[in-house]
Amino acid sequence: MSVLEIRDLHVTVETDAGTTPILNGVTLTIRKGETHAIMGPNGSGKSTLAYTIAGHPKYTVTSGSITFDGEDVLAMSVDERARAGLFLAMQYPVEIPGVTVTNFLRTAKTAIDGEAPAIRTWTKDVKQSMKNLRMDPKFAQRNVNEGFSGGEKKRHEILQLELLQPQIAVLDETDSGLDVDALKIVSEGVNRAKESTDLGVLLITHYTRILRYIRPDFVHVMVAGRIVEEGGSELADRLEDEGYDRFIEPVLEGE
Ligand code: ADP
Ligand code: MG
Ligand code: MG
Repeated sequence: MSVLEIRDLHVTVETDAGTTPILNGVTLTIRKGETHAIMGPNGSGKSTLAYTIAGHPKYTVTSGSITFDGEDVLAMSVDERARAGLFLAMQYPVEIPGVTVTNFLRTAKTAIDGEAPAIRTWTKDVKQSMKNLRMDPKFAQRNVNEGFSGGEKKRHEILQLELLQPQIAVLDETDSGLDVDALKIVSEGVNRAKESTDLGVLLITHYTRILRYIRPDFVHVMVAGRIVEEGGSELADRLEDEGYDRFIEPVLEGE
C-alpha cells in the first residue's frame, strides 16, 4: 500500500538562543502514486519537515508521529528509512571523497535492496537513466558531490530517484538554481518515476514554477510551522497570482 502518515508533528531545533519550536503540529498523509506540494514563504519550516522525515539529528520531535505503512519512522535509522522505501534527497548532500557516482549508486542500490544488482542490467539501467537526464557519461566517474554545480546536484538526485526506485520521495527545492531546460529535464525524471513505479512525491517548493511540470494532486500551504490551507492544483495557481500574503497576515495577527 505504502502510505506515509505525519500526525500532529512538533519539532524543535537547538540554536544559540536555546530550544526553538519550528513545526507546530503538522498533519499530512502521502500515498503511493500521489503528488503533494508543500508551499510556503521562506522560514516557514518546509525544510525542517524534510529533514525530520530524513532523520537529521539536529531536529528533535517533541510530539506527534511519522509512520510508514504503520511502522514508526522516527524509531528507524536513516538507512532503515531508505530501505523501507523512503527517498530523502538531502540524505547524502555531502561530498564523499574518492567515491565515484557509479560506485555510490551501486552501493546505495545494494544497501536498499539487500542484494547487489545484476551487473549487466544495472550498467544498462544507469546508462539509460543518465541519458534520460541528458547527463554526460563522464559524470559517472566523478566523485560524489565534489565540485558539482547546483544543476548537477539536482540531476544526481533524480538519477538516484530513478535507479533506487523508492515508494515515496521527499524532494526539497528540487527546482532551486535550475534554468528552464534543466528544470524540464529534472521534472521529466520525476514524472517518469511516477509513471513507471507509481512513486508518491512530497514536493517542497517556495515557487510555483516546478508545479507547471510536475502537477500536484494536493497542495498544502505551510506558514509558521503549520499547514494553514489545503487544496488541489488550483491552489498553486492562486498562489502564483496572489503570493503568500493572504496566509501570512492572519498568522501575524494571531501572535
Ligand atoms: P523553509 O524551508 O520553509 O524556508 P526552514 O525549515 O529552513 O524553512 O526554517 C524554518 C525556521 O527554522 C527558520 O526560522 C530557520 O531559521 C529555523 N531553522 C531551521 N533549521 C535550523 C537549524 N538547523 N538551526 C537553526 N535554526 C534553524
Ligand atoms: Mg528556506
Ligand atoms: Mg527550505
